[in-house]
Amino acid sequence: MRIDWAGLSDCGRRRTSNEDAFLADGHLGLFVVADGMGGHAAGEVAARLAVDTVRRVLGESGAGPEPRLTIERAIREANRAIVERTHEHESLEGMGTTLVLALIDTASAWISHVGDSRAYRVREGSLQLLTRDHSWVNEQIRMGLLSQEEARRHPWRNVVTRALGSREQVEAEVGVEDLVPGDRILLCSDGLNSMVKEERILEAIRGAGSDLELACQRLVELANGSGGEDNVTVLLLGVSQAGPGPKTP
Ligand code: CA
Repeated sequence: MRIDWAGLSDCGRRRTSNEDAFLADGHLGLFVVADGMGGHAAGEVAARLAVDTVRRVLGESGAGPEPRLTIERAIREANRAIVERTHEHESLEGMGTTLVLALIDTASAWISHVGDSRAYRVREGSLQLLTRDHSWVNEQIRMGLLSQEEARRHPWRNVVTRALGSREQVEAEVGVEDLVPGDRILLCSDGLNSMVKEERILEAIRGAGSDLELACQRLVELANGSGGEDNVTVLLLGVSQAGPGPKTP
């Protein structure tokens, strides 16, 4: 299995700073998007700390025999790092971050998330959401109290119910998905899916064919073209048959 990737993060049209962060480490097979919150410097610190801590933990131990446990530990440590940094610096009070990651393990991808950053898979012409947002609006949708359309416009649409850094403990969701050649895995911050409908996300990815960078550029253009109200980050993985490439697990 060979994994190629491209990633792009953009400030958007309304914000003055970019509090998103992403990481692509082909050696570890680790791909992460984090969406920081807490305002300017604080959000940036939280997102970067989360991404760096996850990479450090997974870099030290690798996925190990039990990737799920390793990922959970990495996310717990990232949470602790943010909480500790907040205690050290009053100006960072209230900072936190969402996180979504993919860890490639032979012919599968471990997907884990906290908050409303998302993972999607494109396979056989359709787009499948692999994560469930930990957000207030998603809870309302699940209880049948809001429709998808109402949620998109709801004033509380950005309220997350889980984040790294907001409590001493955090629970990540972890799942595993098989990979087949031709799959695309998209990790993104909500600056993409809050601005761009899923049909258009799919069109942009399919339309770019094997050019992952072009797909990322088009996704960011779509978000900005729809108003660009938030920072937007996309990290797109392309799965193909084994061959020379950045990563051959
Ligand atoms: Ca965001």
